[in-house]
Amino acid sequence: MAAYRSVFRCFAGCDAEYPLTLPIYRCPKCDGLLEVSHDMEALRDRGAAAWMKLFDDRWMRTQWPYGSGVWGKREWVAPQVPDDCIVSTGEGGTNMFWADRLGREMNVPDLWVKLCGNSHTGSFKDLGMTVLVSVVKQAIAQGSLKTRALCCASTGDTSASLAAYGAAAGLPVAVLLPRGRVSTAQLVQPLAHGARVFALETDFDGCMAVVQELARRGLVYLANSMNPLRIEGQKTVSLEIVQQFDWEAPDWIVLPSGNLGNAAALYAGFKMMLDLGLVARVPRLCVAQAERANPMYRAFVAGKDVVEPIAAGETLATAIQIGNPVSAPRAMAALRAMHGVVEQASEEELADASARADRTGLYTCPHTGVALACLFKLRAKG
Ligand SMILES: [Zn+2]
Repeated sequence: MAAYRSVFRCFAGCDAEYPLTLPIYRCPKCDGLLEVSHDMEALRDRGAAAWMKLFDDRWMRTQWPYGSGVWGKREWVAPQVPDDCIVSTGEGGTNMFWADRLGREMNVPDLWVKLCGNSHTGSFKDLGMTVLVSVVKQAIAQGSLKTRALCCASTGDTSASLAAYGAAAGLPVAVLLPRGRVSTAQLVQPLAHGARVFALETDFDGCMAVVQELARRGLVYLANSMNPLRIEGQKTVSLEIVQQFDWEAPDWIVLPSGNLGNAAALYAGFKMMLDLGLVARVPRLCVAQAERANPMYRAFVAGKDVVEPIAAGETLATAIQIGNPVSAPRAMAALRAMHGVVEQASEEELADASARADRTGLYTCPHTGVALACLFKLRAKG
């Protein structure tokens, strides 16, 4: 394990590296986003077949911490975190639903739905939060971090996840939510875990601006997906998908996305598998957005490389009701590399798609409805 190593680097390419235990969220040189960078030469000490065997041997077993879908791939995620700092709820390893009947109805043969929400706190956010909270625990144990609280802005799922992992680690958590826009179930979760919950008279983007300012002043540790540690954990979803297809990449992945960190994470996982020879190609990507919160869709149809912020309108898909996506530059790079497209779904389209899926045995949230509606529209366009 000691040979493997990952550090923060500037996403735009400034020449410097920083330890993962340092509380920085932007490049000190250009103020751009950071990413986690691995020593790929060290990871080549195993061939592709040996990595697949190692990951298969650990998959869903009980030996700590490898039963976690994330820590079962720890060499590729955060190799320097020691066992006693890992904060895990057994995240990952979520099932793949073969949507056979829905696929036949919609003329999409071999349609599978990766049910990332079948997780400890009910969303895929657990994949990233386990990495972030574990690195924070490591940093505190080493004496390189002092913070009053881990803090995030949230439309619901992120706060539930951060609060649970913070509570599991015994670390204080503060969450900032837009007042009146989070469901009761999502409000109850952080309260139950003992997090300080603040309801602000603004939208998600407004909450995000406040969290960034608090982090800039050194008052809190920032736990939103602007923090690349979240993306490192979330990228294991790509590895899981390929592993669950017996190490074969699917043709297309349709992903509902608001803050766009998950699109970046998906590509990060495929890029590593490609570089280390586990796959021979990456799938094509469709980023699916709600029509009322569609800044990346607008950039895509206008042929622009830069996503311009908009004011997001009310949508049933509250978790992706985001007008100023923090990870837009990362997601644009993912879109290019995966020969991607961006599609949007109206409120009626997403509701219809959700209902249609539920009639075939799925039980979908509106965000999955957005992804399915966009898939059906792509299919109709050929
Ligand atoms: Zn930079």
